[in-house]
Amino acid sequence: NTFAEIDLGDLLNQNIRRCKYVKPTPIQRHAIPIALAGRDLMACAQTGSGKTAAFCFPIISGIMREQYVQRPRVARTVYPLALILSPTRELSCQIHDEAKKFSYQTGVKVVVAYGGAPINQQLRELERGVDILVATPGRLVDLLERARLSLQMIRHLALDEADRMLDMGFEPQIRKIVEQMDMPNRGVRQTMLFSATFPREIQRLASDFLSNYIFLAV
Ligand code: AMP
Repeated sequence: NTFAEIDLGDLLNQNIRRCKYVKPTPIQRHAIPIALAGRDLMACAQTGSGKTAAFCFPIISGIMREQYVQRPRVARTVYPLALILSPTRELSCQIHDEAKKFSYQTGVKVVVAYGGAPINQQLRELERGVDILVATPGRLVDLLERARLSLQMIRHLALDEADRMLDMGFEPQIRKIVEQMDMPNRGVRQTMLFSATFPREIQRLASDFLSNYIFLAV
């Protein structure tokens, strides 16, 4: 019932203490070990449940091991290893802020990109390097169309508030994004889907994007 019992490693445990998290929340207690084991996950989680840490900790832990994998060297093109999609600028910024705290001193670089802000600044930020990209679906499609960002190397994908993303009409963008990481990467990618509700459309996303997944409702 402590974070130390979950095998996140010393560096992450230090950062968790720095954040003053003492006990994992129920979603964290159940989701983190499953995700650390590399399994796909569909989780029912409300705002305030601690879901951000539930997907960030396993992603950061994975990337600490994977960030030395050889990435292609194509001029001005960046290859993030993890992607976190969220519906709004506010939520993306919150996830980015938390993910930065969690990854303090790990060498894992987190970048955020959202719509309604100048794209050039975000492109420049990306060009400085990125391991974890937090993005809203519309802006990510724009970035991909500029061909300076490749999703070929994505090892971890988290869809946060998936029901809200669908309500906002982002399904075509999400499908387009996931298609780009499918080709070379099927079977390698870990996918986690978080949603407050489970209508038919979300179940369809899960069966299209996840493989052999564990369903969590806490
Ligand atoms: P979330 O549901 O991810 O938006 O988290 C809701 C709030 O709870 C955020 O302010 C988190 O920083 C905080 N939080 C998440 N996990 C824990 C934890 N294990 N202990 C204390 N606070 C937490």
